[in-house]
Amino acid sequence: METLFIGQREVPDLLPMADCIEAVRQALADLARGNGIQPLRPVMWLPERVGALGMMPGYLGSIETMGIKTVTVFPGNAGTEYDSHQGTVMLFDAENGRLKAVIDATEITSIRTAAASAVATDQLARTDSSVLAVLGAGVQGGAHIEAIPLVRDIEDIRVWSRTADSARRLAERDERAHVANSVSEAVAGADIVCTTTASPEPILTGDILEPGMHVNAVGSSVPFARELDSDAMDRSRIFVDRRESTINESGDFLMARNDGVIDEDDIVAEVGELIVDSHPGRESDSEVTLFVSLGLAVEDIAAGHLVYRNALESAQGVSMDFGGTRHG
Ligand code: NDP
Repeated sequence: METLFIGQREVPDLLPMADCIEAVRQALADLARGNGIQPLRPVMWLPERVGALGMMPGYLGSIETMGIKTVTVFPGNAGTEYDSHQGTVMLFDAENGRLKAVIDATEITSIRTAAASAVATDQLARTDSSVLAVLGAGVQGGAHIEAIPLVRDIEDIRVWSRTADSARRLAERDERAHVANSVSEAVAGADIVCTTTASPEPILTGDILEPGMHVNAVGSSVPFARELDSDAMDRSRIFVDRRESTINESGDFLMARNDGVIDEDDIVAEVGELIVDSHPGRESDSEVTLFVSLGLAVEDIAAGHLVYRNALESAQGVSMDFGGTRHG
């Protein structure tokens, strides 16, 4: 049987951000309706935590596809020729188990993560939001600058990063963007704040959050790193991609819980529940809403499926007889 292989250079054109946002929206709605399967991901860490191999399986009923992302995370690759996130998304037909596609995961991870933040922002940010602060100017910082303006009319983008040069390079990519010299300068007066750093220590503290803000906390997907301090978690109404992932994987959540300021009951809802209208989401213009993003396999599968479909339509990728039937 033919399997389609799609490489990193092909993915961005096959996965327009606006379409990915819709695919992720559908995936999160599927999960909320019980039309998807999303187990917790095993993560194998190398000694000294120099790198990790994450194994992320999932299933989406609406596209009759199951799949797995295998992703390596090597934070030390930042600034080298290697991406910090690499791997594959494999898609299997949910009717017969056929391996349909093997797709580069670096670009899918980048695009679908920002798409998930955009979906959450669309559900939770005030409709008149126009000022965006992006903290962290790596791959995710760049993807968020592209994604968030697709769901709100953004006029002003502040970019802060640990290294001023990274912030400057990112700000040059969008005429609405400029560099902020500190986190508090970036956040003051912002409507939407995205934390996209690999920082193990909090960069966003509760004392600088302002009424009505929406925060997307993206950078910490492991229990031992956090970008938000306990005060920031305590001041926010907490929305998540998946409850089970949050209480097992989120350093932002777990460390604030260990500090005794929040517990599981403080998770208001999963974003999918807002999409299918089983929860109202934001209830006033003054509350601070927070989306805790861990990243879900169903997002990778939804995005991968879009890449696969578009590649078939435009005859891209390399097809190979990979097995799955006995010949002869
Ligand atoms: P990159 O390597 O491209 O960028 C890393 C960013 O983190 C840079 O802006 C860097 O700043 C900043 N940074 C690193 N260490 C620190 C520190 N100690 N203090 C402050 N800033 C720091 O990574 P990505 O953009 O791909 O990923 C960013 C984070 O998001 C990672 O932690 C990653 O695991 C996570 N992630 C989460 C996903 C999700 O689904 N929630 C999916 C993908 C990634 P500078 O360059 O200015 O020094």
